[in-house]
Amino acid sequence: MSLTAEVIRILGERATHQINFNLGRCRIDPTAFSRVQSMLRSESIGVQTDPDLPDRARYDRNGPTLFLWSDADENQIRSDADSKALIVHECVHVITHAQASRAIDGIEDETVAFLAQTLYRLAIQGYTHQGSGERGGDYSRTIHHFRDRPTGRIFDAAQQIVFDHEMLDQTACTPLFDRDVERLREAIRAHPAYATSAS
Ligand SMILES: [Zn+2]
Repeated sequence: MSLTAEVIRILGERATHQINFNLGRCRIDPTAFSRVQSMLRSESIGVQTDPDLPDRARYDRNGPTLFLWSDADENQIRSDADSKALIVHECVHVITHAQASRAIDGIEDETVAFLAQTLYRLAIQGYTHQGSGERGGDYSRTIHHFRDRPTGRIFDAAQQIVFDHEMLDQTACTPLFDRDVERLREAIRAHPAYATSAS
């Protein structure tokens, strides 16, 4: 199996199809992920490793190409929920780029990408319904533990949106508004990696 085939497979997973929300001009839902699958199948987007990326991924709109960390391989990805969640994050950038009629604001782009990444990760973790026990389990506890670090703050804020809106308790699209994502936006703006795109 190639990296491209693995990314296509992830986008067809049940956890990916549980991501369904809209914010402003962005609608992140199963139909949007299916479109990314088609773009990958027709090779209008490439998937490659990047020797200069030790532990991250990025979407280059000028390829257009999804670049994965230098030693990414399909077997490692398949067995690692965090790697798959990161790929879902990058595929959201493909969606926002395709949906936005003009360039989307960098912070807005990251807001929807981090929210989708968190939804996927919680869905994989086995998010439990409200009233039937703890939500998010081990993953949620880890996020909470690191909530004072820049990256932890982002995921803590994203997770709170998922819980507040019971986003994984329903299949319908969750409409989100600016006030709902304010804390997540602030956490992204405060992160050193994204501070420069806060315009
Ligand atoms: Zn991103």
